Amino acid sequence: MKKHNFSAGPAILPSEVIEQASQAVKELDNIGLSLIEISHRSKEFIAIMEEACSLSLNLLGLEGKGYKAMFLQGGASMQFLMTAYNLLENKAGYVNSGTWSSKAIKEAKLLGEVEELASSKDQNFNYIPKGYNIPEDLDYLHITTNNTIFGTQYKALPETQVPLVADMSSDIFSRPFDYSKFDLFYAGAQKNMGPSGVTLVVIKESSFNKVSRVIPSMLNYEVQANAGSMFNTPPVFPVYTVLLNLRWIAKNGGLDGIGAYNDKKAALIYEEIDRNPLFEGFANQEDRSQMNATFNLKDESQAEIFDALWNQANISGLKGHRSVGGYRASIYNALPIESIETLVDCMKEFERKA
Ligand SMILES: *Cc1c(COP(=O)(O)O)cnc(C)c1O
Repeated sequence: MKKHNFSAGPAILPSEVIEQASQAVKELDNIGLSLIEISHRSKEFIAIMEEACSLSLNLLGLEGKGYKAMFLQGGASMQFLMTAYNLLENKAGYVNSGTWSSKAIKEAKLLGEVEELASSKDQNFNYIPKGYNIPEDLDYLHITTNNTIFGTQYKALPETQVPLVADMSSDIFSRPFDYSKFDLFYAGAQKNMGPSGVTLVVIKESSFNKVSRVIPSMLNYEVQANAGSMFNTPPVFPVYTVLLNLRWIAKNGGLDGIGAYNDKKAALIYEEIDRNPLFEGFANQEDRSQMNATFNLKDESQAEIFDALWNQANISGLKGHRSVGGYRASIYNALPIESIETLVDCMKEFERKA
């Protein structure tokens, strides 16, 4: 029996996507060959890559608006470096809202001046910094829209004329948003999009050629975009599985439909966290993530009782990250509301037992 999968990443995918992806490994669309044994330059795979790029832009509302979508390797972590390589000439501003932002800052510093405009480190990253000053002469401002580990998420973007760059690894395709506010955003696939091994990058074409340094070909957005994400051999299985997932999102009402379902799911878990006297939420209420709900027991000594309950209920992946402790329910797009209902039942049962 399939478990209720609350894993933070690699994470749950829709079961029909898993079915279709498995089938394609055996044989792709009745062509007598497996997806993973054909040329990436075959007409079949080129069509897959083109549809994955165009459907990404379509779902994000960016079609015909001067953006390129591409699928690259090296994870979001490579984008920490690539962003700075391509955009950082004089000075960039970064908001430090957690572990991943800190890592992005560290990489960018290898290439130029980085100003940390704000940080929520003083409270173990349980809130999204707001109200800081954004200098007008920055090459760009980098934010992390959803902080996977701490369970915080931007509800509104910083007001600025400076080009906005975002790591959206854990909330891409989860909600309707004005994505045209960004000049560049990226997301590793394995949180809310597909298997690990590929990263979606969406960039405004006007962001090419922004710096004077020589950029190695593999790290150059313009080279990668012009090559149609095929400057070298792309990871064909992750790209295809992402495409299947994008089709699933489109079929389920696009980002409006998915966003409404995610609203319902998040409300359910947070209601119980707030109602149940034995738990407390970790993140500041107004900054709570719709993708990763972090919470703790008020009395840690009762952990064994609660852990036994959710394990018996066939729940997996609920342990919090070591830097926060407690619990983290990752409730990505593909997680059905029934899984959250099961978790909420365990929390109620715990209240009766403890
Ligand atoms: C997981 C994660 C990353 C790291 O992704 P990799 O693909 O492993 O490099 C970066 N940023 C955020 C917000 C994440 O959740």
